[in-house]
Amino acid sequence: MTECVKTECPVCGPASRTPVGECHDLPIVRCNVCSLMFVGECSTVDETEEFFRTEHVDAEETTQLHYVSYRSDSLQREAAVVQRLVPDGGRLLDVGTASGYFLKEFQNAAGWDVEGVEPSAVSTNFARDHFGLNVHRGYLSEQDYVAESFDVVTSLDAFNCHRTPNEDLAEIFRVLKPGGIFALEVPGQNYRMLTGSGLLCQLLFGVPLRLNAGVNFYFYTTASLVVMASRVGFEAVESHPEAMPSHGSLPARFLKGAYFHATSLLYRMTSGACHYAPKEFLIFRRPATAATQETSEDTTSSPPNKYAPLRKVA
Ligand SMILES: [Zn+2]
Repeated sequence: MTECVKTECPVCGPASRTPVGECHDLPIVRCNVCSLMFVGECSTVDETEEFFRTEHVDAEETTQLHYVSYRSDSLQREAAVVQRLVPDGGRLLDVGTASGYFLKEFQNAAGWDVEGVEPSAVSTNFARDHFGLNVHRGYLSEQDYVAESFDVVTSLDAFNCHRTPNEDLAEIFRVLKPGGIFALEVPGQNYRMLTGSGLLCQLLFGVPLRLNAGVNFYFYTTASLVVMASRVGFEAVESHPEAMPSHGSLPARFLKGAYFHATSLLYRMTSGACHYAPKEFLIFRRPATAATQETSEDTTSSPPNKYAPLRKVA
């Protein structure tokens, strides 16, 4: 029988929360301090991790469709951003590698040595077999990487599935070299609520909330991620709007494309302040010189009023 555990806001710790609704029989709550939405109670971390190892991706065809065919445009754009920021190449780790399509973009680029970590057995085998990639099956916390090993760490549409986000951010910071880049793609929260809640969601899908809870655990905003990343020592560098997976009929894909281009324009005109794009690609840097850092324990146990103010990404 599945054991349920209460979760905490990753920004504010054990702050009070307000119920928002239910999705996939899981309670969705909103933090009363920072307004971040998250799954308020769910299976244990071990059970969740086992789900992603064995059940979440059940077939090679699923990996091909969801992590190659529907995602290739976004992954190519994101690879280009990383290659622009780190023009001489280096050692890159992709956390949550999925199909490996993103890493494949670096295979023929000079100077890059890339590898991945991926919990799913099906996806790990796909990335190894189709692209010949070096992918370690499992979680970042299980890899025992030497400190300051990588020039770039990426997490593309995966961080919202992590159950221990603050600990994982601290580990990503630890394995990055000083001056290294952390590139993070997450769903856009305004877009998610626009399409996954309210009357439109009820009419189209027959449910009041459609957030894929149980796969997603935290519904991050840009501000919450900037706070969490800055606490472990990262500085925000730049951000980009990104598209939703491209699939469906031709008219549906046309509408999705039009929506992405319109919201991208709005995003760029407002420097990210007006963010209704389907996804966001955030770039953080580990400062080249040592800065004072809080430990991950301090991060989760500190009272909310100690937290840094929200910082806007340029
Ligand atoms: Zn909070």
